[in-house]
Amino acid sequence: MDLSFGAEYEAFRDEVKLFVSEAWPRGADAVCDRAVQLAFVVAAVERGYLYRSIPKKYGGSEQEFDSLRESIIVEEFDRAAVPWRLGNQGVGQLVPTLLEVGDEWQRERFIRPTLRGEYVWCQGYSEPGAGSDLAALRSSARLEGDEWVINGHKIWTSDAEDANFMFGMFRTEREASKHAGISYLLLEMDQPGVDVRPLRQINGATHFHEVFFDDARTPADWVVGGRGQGWRVARVNLKHERNLGSGQAMRRRFHQLLDLAQSARIDGRPASRDPVMRERLAELECLVRCVETTSLRQLSAVAHGEEADIGLPLLVAKLYGSEVMDRIAGLAYDLIGADGLLAPTDSGWADLQSGAGEIDWVDQYLFVLAMRIAGGSSNIQRNLIGERGLGLPRDLRATDVAR
Ligand SMILES: Cc1cc2nc3c(=O)[nH]c(=O)nc-3n(C[C@H](O)[C@H](O)[C@H](O)COP(=O)(O)OP(=O)(O)OC[C@H]3O[C@@H](n4cnc5c(N)ncnc54)[C@H](O)[C@@H]3O)c2cc1C
Repeated sequence: MDLSFGAEYEAFRDEVKLFVSEAWPRGADAVCDRAVQLAFVVAAVERGYLYRSIPKKYGGSEQEFDSLRESIIVEEFDRAAVPWRLGNQGVGQLVPTLLEVGDEWQRERFIRPTLRGEYVWCQGYSEPGAGSDLAALRSSARLEGDEWVINGHKIWTSDAEDANFMFGMFRTEREASKHAGISYLLLEMDQPGVDVRPLRQINGATHFHEVFFDDARTPADWVVGGRGQGWRVARVNLKHERNLGSGQAMRRRFHQLLDLAQSARIDGRPASRDPVMRERLAELECLVRCVETTSLRQLSAVAHGEEADIGLPLLVAKLYGSEVMDRIAGLAYDLIGADGLLAPTDSGWADLQSGAGEIDWVDQYLFVLAMRIAGGSSNIQRNLIGERGLGLPRDLRATDVAR
């Protein structure tokens, strides 16, 4: 079986590698410097490598759809550890949503500065009583003149402290049924009615926040996809959020695990020579290969226009991606022994997700717990795969029991 992308694409890969070597200055300072990062992104857009599906008038490079080229670009940028993702929530979720269901003025106003990292967004969905069952959300917005007045409480809001804007779901139609009464609103974070409070995580970092709204305000036309249409809009949005993780990040972590198995000792010998450890590593290698070949199969199907519903494979990729990452981190944790008691250094979510940078196994071990929850928990993925993919009977809902 030939798993290469073919001569034309491998030539393209060489081109991308050359571009990265010329456009990305190496060194830790470059990684931290926002201006250097932005200069790289702008150069990559000009070369047609980034924001390929986004029209030029909004700041994209407007290229013909080619899933193999896109995959090569991401692989090579990540391989060189270029921090090219400027704002995960805005670029990854809001922009595709605006392109699909936003008003023209919203696209013109928000997309370009978001792509350039000038507008940083956070996602205001989850609430203390609404996570997996998102439609149970209670934060509300009422229209007063030409403004929405917002009250309520969001939780687990990633990066809210750094964000200038939030896209969020709010109940706007009092009389409507659970799913029908929600609108998808945009709002400014820096205003008197918005109070952001950090939540300390298990690793000591504070990437999560609670956000309290007390008569916060946003203009009446900052609603995306129409009033009361929030549920439909959020489904567009979550489709992009589920596109988390990749076989490549997993492969990088697995190789780091192999390095660890060679340096760690069991009975005075490298752990990689221990028969039980070898069996566990071999099992993991099989799982990693399964994830890689599955993603290659999906990529090939998309490239040939054969994949009718990409949603289902993405659910499977998210579920298995996070489960296998969990097993890799678990095995590493066994290998580091007493070092597992050391306090983790905060590696940052971007590196933990992409597999870039130096590895702190304690931090990785704690982070994989989150991967099984963020963007829809593993149990919810299983339900969706069972119901949509396998045609199994619908899961029992709390409302069914109450009846
Ligand atoms: C790293 C990370 C980043 C996040 N960032 C954001 C963000 O920026 N903005 C935001 O709005 N939210 C964010 N979240 C929140 C995330 O979306 C929710 O945590 C998630 O949807 C689960 O909701 P919950 O925490 O309320 O758990 P619950 O929904 O209460 O679930 C608790 C447990 O019950 C299980 N469960 C629930 N319902 C079912 C069912 N029907 N069948 C079987 N099992 C079920 C779940 O699988 C889970 O194990 C983030 C979470 C993480 C971990």
